[in-house]
Parts: sequence; C-alpha cells; structure tokens
Amino acid sequence: MLSPAVSEDSSQLVRLDAAVQAEVSRTPHFGPVLFGLHAEALAGLMVEAGEPAWRGRQLAEALYRQLLADLSAITTLPKPLRQRLMAEGWQVGRPAIAQVFKSVDGTERYLVECLGGGAKTVETVWMPEGDDGESGDGTDSSNKAGIETEGEGKSWHRATICISSQVGCAVNCQFCLTAKLGLQRNLSAGEIAGQVVAVLDRHGVQVGRDRVNLVFMGMGEPFLNYDAFMGAVRLLIHEVGLSPQRMTVSTSGIVPGIERFAQEPAEVRPKLAISLNAPNDTVRSEIMPINRKWPIEAVIDAVRQVKFRPRELVTFEYVLLGGVTDQPAHAREVARLVRRTGLPVKVNLIAWNPGPGIEYTMPRPEAVEAFRSALAGEGVPTYLRKPRGRDIYAACGQLKRTVEG
Ligand code: SAH
Ligand code: SF4
Repeated sequence: MLSPAVSEDSSQLVRLDAAVQAEVSRTPHFGPVLFGLHAEALAGLMVEAGEPAWRGRQLAEALYRQLLADLSAITTLPKPLRQRLMAEGWQVGRPAIAQVFKSVDGTERYLVECLGGGAKTVETVWMPEGDDGESGDGTDSSNKAGIETEGEGKSWHRATICISSQVGCAVNCQFCLTAKLGLQRNLSAGEIAGQVVAVLDRHGVQVGRDRVNLVFMGMGEPFLNYDAFMGAVRLLIHEVGLSPQRMTVSTSGIVPGIERFAQEPAEVRPKLAISLNAPNDTVRSEIMPINRKWPIEAVIDAVRQVKFRPRELVTFEYVLLGGVTDQPAHAREVARLVRRTGLPVKVNLIAWNPGPGIEYTMPRPEAVEAFRSALAGEGVPTYLRKPRGRDIYAACGQLKRTVEG
C-alpha cells in the first residue's frame, strides 16, 4: 500500500554551518540525527556538547569508514560520553535495510527505512557481477534484514549499487512503474548516501579495495532533487571515500539540472547518463511527456556544457519498447542523432521490463539483437544492459516498493 501524501514532520532545522550546508535535524524530544552530516558539522555538534572538535572527526570515522550504525558501538568515544549523548537523544539515524528480496541471479532488492517524515521506505538494489552472481542460487527465501557480511570469502568481485533519490517520481514516463507512485517526497542527502552505506555494511565492502560502482538510477529523478543528490555525492566522496568516476547519475533530461551539473568541479562530478529512449521528438514526447518541456535538442545543448574528462563518455540510455522504439529505422535515426551531437557517446540498450498496468510489450530478442548490431554497425559504441533481478521487481523501471518478492 502506498503511504498517504507527504506530511510535515515536526523537526526543526537548525542551520549550523552554512559553509558545509549542514542542516541538523532535531525533534523536540530527541537529539540530533548524525548520519548525513560532514565531519565539520559533527565537530560543531561536539563543541556545542562541550567536547573537543576532534571528537567530530572520530564520529565521522565511525559513521562513514567503520560503517557503524549505532552510537553504543562507537568505541573510539569514551563510554560515559556515549551514554550521555544517547541519554540526550543523539542518534546515528542511518537508513536501515528493513526487507531483502533475493533474485536467482544474485541481485538483491532492499526496502530501506528512513527516519524522514512522510513516506518512509525507499528501494535500493545490489547487483553483484564478476562471477555473474550465480554462486547464490536464491533458494534462501529469508527476507528478514540481517547483516550477512560475506567477509574475505566474497562471492563477488565487483558490484553495482543502484540508489533512489526520491520516493516515487513526478516525471511520468509512460513505460516506468515508479511513475505510477507519483512523487511522494524528496530524500535528504543523508537518506540517499545512507542507502549506499547500509549496503556497503551488509556486504562487508572494503572501500578502496573492492570495486563498487554506484548508479543513481533507482526511484526518482535525481535532478529534481538536485541539492540533496549532490549533497549525497559529496558525502560519499569526502567522508566514505568513494570516487566520482565510479558513480553515474541518470536523468530523464531535466535541462536546468544538467546545466547546474555541468558547473560541478570534476572532483565531485559523477558520470552522466541521459534517458534518451526514443529516436526523435515525436516518439519521445509520446512516451516521455517531459520531452514537450525539454526536447532532445535542448537536452543535448545542456549536455554540451559538461567538460568531460579524457576518455569519459556520456551514456544515452535507450529503452527498447516492442514495436514503439525497437525498429531498424529507429536504430538508423539514433545513429544519426548521436553523430549530430558530436559528443563522446555510448548507447546503453535496455530491453523494456514489464510491470502490471503498463500496456507496452517487450521487444522480441531478434529485434534487440538487430537494433544492437545496426547501431554498432554505424560505429556507435553500444552495450546491451542485462536485466537484473526481474523476478523480484528489481530491474530498471520496476521499483515500486513491491512487497511481494
Ligand atoms: N529517473 C532517472 C533515473 C531512474 S530510471 C531517469 O529516468 O533517467 C533509470 C533508467 O531506467 C532510465 O534510463 C529509464 O528510462 C529506464 N527505465 C524506466 N522504466 C523502465 C522499464 N520498465 N524497463 C526498462 N527500463 C526502464
Ligand atoms: Fe521517473 Fe526515471 Fe521512471 Fe521517468 S524513467 S518516471 S524519470 S524514474
């Protein structure tokens, strides 16, 4: 069931340090929520509590490097201090994995619970690759949250985490299940970064050693929640230690968002993916009504403002809808479009994943292959994205907080 519309909660937002744009949320009866704050802001809180500022750095280490989710476990702080802070209602407040759905292909979809007001659960997906994730056969039907650290005997060599930026989405793409929810609410920077940290913790990921990619391709449109999205990116880079070159953000083509993104310095700018999904404006406006506001040329003009790194490519995602976008003529049109942009582009083809209440049909496998080879034949670097976790509603466009797994 869907939660009712967003309700205002009673938290007061206290501006602590404008330089790091940290907002400390507190409720009248509770102390500060720590997760989501940068080290400087944590230091400020510690000073307020009569402690030295370097205790803030210890807190940051505990939250973002040791991946601790509970104040009582932060043993770098003296026990009496921990006890006092807990008595005063301080809490880590990291989003928590509440339910786990496991796919036969190794993919896991999580319902993640956030502390924020209104609709509280979001979806996050873990996709182990390398050995194709086949080592787990999915027969473990337990869907209880649990820390199942795989430790040194990891069954994966690299993995991708797919993160949500909003609960639901307002963009209304006709082929997407998330669109059916409408926009329930924006997530905060801590709620977005917290999905990543909860999953890193669950799988015992060692940042800096394990190869983990992040894709902001879950529920919601990141560029319609821009500040929180970029706040999460900065937190993940500066505090957790992840690299922006292993992050990709996907947008349906929100031009003002792309223009802001183009101004971000390379040290904090993830790679960019654009959901093109159609060969021309007529088809795109039909399946993505947002195209009437920002048509293809406007999107491409905005993408041109990005200063790409050497060898960096912008991804055009292209959902193949049976009969609607998967014809050979469409492939030729896409190739021409890509060439016209003059941009360093690669195309990611995604066979449409079905969902209840959506009228489109899946493309025939022969049509997918013909489309791929037509594009490749025109010299466009083209990849076919493997559908992951379709059986548990974890694949692209299927995130709708489905509780059946
Ligand atoms: N809102 C952002 C990011 C999330 S959607 C965006 O639209 O770009 C991530 C990708 O999934 C997008 O490229 C989108 O076009 C694609 N997608 C949505 N619904 C899908 C479906 N049912 N099957 C396959 N891909 C889908
Ligand atoms: Fe929103 Fe992306 Fe789905 Fe479109 S495809 S409705 S932008 S989540």
